[in-house]
Amino acid sequence: MHTPTTTTITETEYAFGPRRAPRSVHGIAEPTPIPGLVVTPQIEPDYRTGQWRFTGGWCVRHATSGVLVLACRGAGLGHAREAVELLARGWVNWTRPAEVLSADPLALDVQRETSRHVGAAIREDRPVLLHTTSWRQVPPPWLVDITHADGEWIESYYCPSYDSAERLTIELGRDLGLLAGVRKEVTISRLPDPLWELHCARRGCDSVLLDDEYEEPEHDADRQVLVTVAEGQRWRQLDARRLLCRTCNPLFRGATPDGICPECDSQGTPNGCALCRLVDGSD
Ligand SMILES: [Zn+2]
Ligand SMILES: [Zn+2]
Repeated sequence: MHTPTTTTITETEYAFGPRRAPRSVHGIAEPTPIPGLVVTPQIEPDYRTGQWRFTGGWCVRHATSGVLVLACRGAGLGHAREAVELLARGWVNWTRPAEVLSADPLALDVQRETSRHVGAAIREDRPVLLHTTSWRQVPPPWLVDITHADGEWIESYYCPSYDSAERLTIELGRDLGLLAGVRKEVTISRLPDPLWELHCARRGCDSVLLDDEYEEPEHDADRQVLVTVAEGQRWRQLDARRLLCRTCNPLFRGATPDGICPECDSQGTPNGCALCRLVDGSD
């Protein structure tokens, strides 16, 4: 997506267990289209070693200070990137110093709203920004049938337009030697009903379910057939109308899908431990 650069990522005001983790670590960050914000892996203090460790989740940080802007428990990489897009909608200038941002009621409001939307999406293992449906209808294709003179079927070809069907008919007629007196029939007709095409439900992704063999969009009158093909290609069904493509699918799986804190076994704040509060970003 972008060229990664480094930024200092910092955790302040945090002590856990008998030893204190270093207050700041240097880590890799993904630049975002929004000035002032970067995406980084989520880290947490390991009180046994006094060091930081990765959680498998992702978060949004202030680029120059490394301060957390959004840290939702179990956010996938897709959630963190989406959060940046949501944070950008609030007309906040995120390039201002962290101290200024932390005192700006608008910035805090946008952070809270974003956190609420992203948190709900994580609990359901889905993106925040979704289309209302993955299904699109495409016009019925044209059909070129080859039959014996007595009407017995030999083979059929689907064509997207009448013109392409006509061209194919002329080619087939030549190849089959119809002009030389071979007794076969080539006919053009059209299917009565539109077909379905399957699109990724995430807004901003333009993936279409493709035929494995020809790399063309897969079409069928029966949606269940397309769902089966999609699941075979590692798409994931979100609900009755929506599926995520194979690229988006793994980016929207939370790191802790059950939401249980590894330290205190609670569902997190308000009853959780210091780790819950840090990972939730509510401290
Ligand atoms: Zn997608
Ligand atoms: Zn906890």
